[in-house]
Amino acid sequence: MSIAIVGAGLGGLALARVLHVNGMDCVVYERDPSRDVRGQGGMLDIHSGQRALREAGLVDQFHAIARGEGQDMRLLEPDGTLLLQEDTPEGAPLERPEVDRADLRDLLLDSLPEHTVRWGRAFESADTGVLRFADGSNATYDLLVGADGANSRVRALLTDARPAHIGQNVVELRIADIDRTHPDLASMVGRGNYWVLGNGRSLAAQRNGDGCVRIGLSFYNTAEDWFATSGIPFDDPAAVRTRLVEEFTGWDPRFTALIAACDDTVAPRAITALPVGLTWPPTPGVTLLGDAAHLMPPVGEGANMALLDGALLGLALAAHPDDFPAAVEAYEREMFERTSAAARMSADMQELLMSPDAARRILAFFRPDGV
Ligand SMILES: Cc1cc2nc3c(=O)[nH]c(=O)nc-3n(C[C@H](O)[C@H](O)[C@H](O)COP(=O)(O)OP(=O)(O)OC[C@H]3O[C@@H](n4cnc5c(N)ncnc54)[C@H](O)[C@@H]3O)c2cc1C
Repeated sequence: MSIAIVGAGLGGLALARVLHVNGMDCVVYERDPSRDVRGQGGMLDIHSGQRALREAGLVDQFHAIARGEGQDMRLLEPDGTLLLQEDTPEGAPLERPEVDRADLRDLLLDSLPEHTVRWGRAFESADTGVLRFADGSNATYDLLVGADGANSRVRALLTDARPAHIGQNVVELRIADIDRTHPDLASMVGRGNYWVLGNGRSLAAQRNGDGCVRIGLSFYNTAEDWFATSGIPFDDPAAVRTRLVEEFTGWDPRFTALIAACDDTVAPRAITALPVGLTWPPTPGVTLLGDAAHLMPPVGEGANMALLDGALLGLALAAHPDDFPAAVEAYEREMFERTSAAARMSADMQELLMSPDAARRILAFFRPDGV
């Protein structure tokens, strides 16, 4: 009985690893030609997903690469008022440590037998037990797991649902080697997350393990074509910085200084999500996990859910090695319930972030008793 996983992201790799520790084989087909061909993005905060790493036998290695101090948090208003500062004490439990996404992916990749991941195999279609790839090659499967992320192609085998824009557009920027290049801004941001929440705008800065600070500038209640209609020339990084500083006119000059200090790495990102509570009818031989199944607003749940999906599907298959439909049924029942709750919570958090008084409302969320 062969298991084909499409996508070597966190979810697909967690599944492959848990199958491996339970003595089961699989093949992971990944579109990228190699593991290093593109950057993996910034930091992830891993909380519930730690259970998946425990099931994968990797939790000690995870703790070795996790950044406990990344749990530090500062929340401010655009006029510079500091509303909340939390500094992680030395030796505090790693409840929500940050980890570099590339380090976590490397940990999972290095834990798999050689040749488990087949690079450069972009899934195109599947029919009656045969997968077809963009390079013209084929492979057979008994169970196909779509772990191919937000714009999954496997998803179409199960549902017509598509991600929809949620009214948020983000411009991602970066200050490399910030301790050396801008020590004043480095100490302002601190060791973890630095959030400035305004009316319809936010600035989120985050210290990364490689010494850079990543900055996400969010524009809320904006349309899907905002990048095209905003008039910001995204192919000219210096002009982008100038325009973005103008967009944040009226904010404390320390915040616009952060934008002005960014280098030429500019990534526009339109934010989309699948409907909350998406399900599909049981379908022999095919299932989904991670963003392919339940893409949600990026407020800190997606990677955790993808890891858990992978681990729990792996355990279900190990419990029913001769009955994949029973394993998938058990997995989907639990996954639909767990990820619907996470998607609902993420949508509520997203609503707070998009509200006119976002900073005070987020403060009340973290400090409901006002202390
Ligand atoms: C800016 C940002 C910050 C985030 N921060 C957090 C956080 O702090 N905590 C958190 O829990 N979540 C966070 N998330 C969400 C998290 O990144 C995702 O939910 C998670 O990566 C989903 O994992 P996945 O394995 O489902 O998909 P992915 O990680 O997207 O992996 C999918 C893989 O499939 C491959 N693929 C795609 N199409 C094909 C194809 N046709 N054939 C073969 N391979 C294919 C891709 O190349 C990729 O390797 C954040 C998201 C964003 C955008």
